[in-house]
Amino acid sequence: MKTALVTGASRGIGRAVALRLARDGFRVAVNYSASEAAAKEVVRLIEESGGSAFAVRADLGVLEEAHALAERIRREAGVLDVLVNNAGIGASSPIEQETPEAYDRLFAVNVRGLFFLTRRLLPLIPDGGRIVNITSGVARIAFPEGIAYSMTKGAVQVFTLALAKQLGPRQITVNNVAPGIIDTDVNAGWLRGNPEGEAYAASRHALARVGQVDEIAGVVAFAASPEASFITGTTLDATGGGNL
Ligand code: NAP
Repeated sequence: MKTALVTGASRGIGRAVALRLARDGFRVAVNYSASEAAAKEVVRLIEESGGSAFAVRADLGVLEEAHALAERIRREAGVLDVLVNNAGIGASSPIEQETPEAYDRLFAVNVRGLFFLTRRLLPLIPDGGRIVNITSGVARIAFPEGIAYSMTKGAVQVFTLALAKQLGPRQITVNNVAPGIIDTDVNAGWLRGNPEGEAYAASRHALARVGQVDEIAGVVAFAASPEASFITGTTLDATGGGNL
């Protein structure tokens, strides 16, 4: 059985990706940081459907914990066929309101954690393996409302480009999946049950509605599949036609 690690898989997009990859036949490592009960529920749902999964706690903003996560994958699986770097945080702050502490935490989780976790896992990824990084549609537009968050996603997209070049000869693909505005907890405060928020989100997407987590999971599953064997170093835009 092939193994996939999905970071930040206790909730939101990562949860949907974990459930989908399990359905596609992967044994799934479900990483979480704080939501232990939610991560265990994801494992339970996977096992209930006949799949295989295990939960692993690690705050990717803490380097030692990212390294411990890689070590756990080495011990549990030995080989990592698919790495989905999904865990991420993001608050919308314009430049005037961004604090050094919040900026550092954003980069620690979204960029440094992803970078060093991936580095530690590289020896476990076999020829033909897959790395999928969840970025954001805001990396291709001007988004001053969340400038530092956008910068973290831009950094990941450049990381993807370089790593795809390095790993290509081994048939390992590295791609980004860039979601638009998706109905998850991160947007719940302004979006869920708020017609004005929904109208705003719809106005930013050509498809004139908010995206759902399964719509992102499907794109990630494709990028992780053998079907995507000749796609690397690029961004699969899943923004519903965001800001066209
Ligand atoms: P979410 O609903 O807030 O879920 C975030 C997930 O990441 C949770 O499982 C959380 O686990 C985990 N996580 C947070 N901080 C972590 C840390 N330091 N270490 C390990 N895991 C951590 O977020 P989401 O909307 O699904 O977002 C997932 C990814 O998609 C992020 O990279 C985000 O930037 C990107 N994205 C989202 C949207 C959107 O509209 N939702 C749009 C574009 C891009 P715990 O609860 O255990 O902490």
